[in-house]
Amino acid sequence: MSEPQPEDEPCEQCGLCCRIFGPGIAPTPANVFIWIEQERTDILRWFVAFMEHGSTPVPCTDLSAGDLGNVVVFEMRDPETGGYVTVCPFLRRVAKDKYLCGIHRVKPEMCCTYQPWVWIDSINDAPFHWQMCKSQKIGRRLPFASQK
Ligand code: SF4
Repeated sequence: MSEPQPEDEPCEQCGLCCRIFGPGIAPTPANVFIWIEQERTDILRWFVAFMEHGSTPVPCTDLSAGDLGNVVVFEMRDPETGGYVTVCPFLRRVAKDKYLCGIHRVKPEMCCTYQPWVWIDSINDAPFHWQMCKSQKIGRRLPFASQK
């Protein structure tokens, strides 16, 4: 999910990915480094880190840049309950069928590279929610769809 796209980027901004993968959204250490540098506690508070030596998740708001080398994995968690989230908290609904990313300029790398309309055709038994991707359906009707 993102802000308006370049012409060769067929995302329809339906928000489907961001609603499905909420708990699976994880940043890279480079993403977290930028959030620490920019003091983006509004983003950091939604993530915890599991460290090399320790079993308790550490809130990313407690990390310094020097800690990042010891992180094994990051996970998105509700800052109030510590539980998993079902929908990405950064998703913003701007019209009936249109969503934008509230942290587009600094969103996780996996969100920047995720393009379901590119690879979905190669999965014969793609899950039903992926088959609902509007860009994937429209892409079949566009000239560039044949280049996949
Ligand atoms: S960070 Fe932005 S692009 Fe990534 S899942 Fe959340 S709303 Fe979507």
